[in-house]
Amino acid sequence: MFKVMALAAGLFCAALLPVSGARAQAITDDHVVIAHRGASGYLPEHTLPAVALAYGMDPDFIEQDVVMSKDGVPVVMHDIHLDTTTDVAKKYPKRHRKDGRFYAIDFTLAELKTLNVHERVDAKTGKQVYGARFPLEYGIFKIPTFEEEIKLIQGLNKSTDRDIGVYAEIKDPAWHRSEGQDISKAVIKVMEKWGYGTRESNGYIQCFDWNETKRIRNELKYQGRMVQLLGENSWKIAPNVDFDFLKTDEGVGEMAKVVDAIGPSLDQVISGLSEDGHAVMTPTLVAAQRRHLPVHVYTLRADQLPAWAGDFRIVMTAVFDDAGIDGVFTDFPDQVVDYLAATPE
Ligand code: CA
Repeated sequence: MFKVMALAAGLFCAALLPVSGARAQAITDDHVVIAHRGASGYLPEHTLPAVALAYGMDPDFIEQDVVMSKDGVPVVMHDIHLDTTTDVAKKYPKRHRKDGRFYAIDFTLAELKTLNVHERVDAKTGKQVYGARFPLEYGIFKIPTFEEEIKLIQGLNKSTDRDIGVYAEIKDPAWHRSEGQDISKAVIKVMEKWGYGTRESNGYIQCFDWNETKRIRNELKYQGRMVQLLGENSWKIAPNVDFDFLKTDEGVGEMAKVVDAIGPSLDQVISGLSEDGHAVMTPTLVAAQRRHLPVHVYTLRADQLPAWAGDFRIVMTAVFDDAGIDGVFTDFPDQVVDYLAATPE
């Protein structure tokens, strides 16, 4: 009898223990942790080491921002410009445009691969944006292609028996088209090739350009999960998109017909704390929750807190416990995963 019970216990443990990722996913089941640009709080954003480090922190997804090379290869970079995260100005001093900026789309993949990636600097001052992060002078990293990054994630999914997902943002699709490249088609092609073409697959496509989101769904017939990102009209990031409308109850209703979740900024969902210290939710958040439209908020940074929060824990409590927000983009996935693991659902 004891032997049978021990065997049963052993089987039970075997079913639970080896799959540490499955455990972490169970803990954060109701909350989606997206490693923003990899573990970008600790290593330069969108480098493969930052992806590997993020992976080890057990997020649900790792985020990719995608732009195109001159020869039509989707690469993982946040900006259409190269000068704030690479040494392009040193290696190719004459290859800037009239505005003084260096554009990824003016360089072939082979040329992009010669660049070293470093911590982000301010385009105007040249100073490191987040001073306490990885030293700027250690620019020992390379730009990955979108496929290389997926290979790293899927390879780790195999070797660690987990299923951490891919969460790709299509950057400036209208601008890419004006430069002769259809970035949405290129990203969809890679997503579908690697198994992220259905709602059951562990992937998302996100975009700020609402017109492009509708095109991806309705014209390009992408069947995977999609997120509409919300910006502000003053940022001028998506031509002919009225974010003031999208933030209204009616706008949220329109988005709910097309996408699986929305990605607002923290300011757009929590306006501050009440006198008794709880998050004050915005009408946009209330509208999304009324429609059961999941909200993935950007960006939770331990080293850049909103004015109303004295420490990072206050932000996480406001987001998850007070506001009931479904998911977060964070530069510090380890701290969010730890917080959620320690907090009863
Ligand atoms: Ca992004």
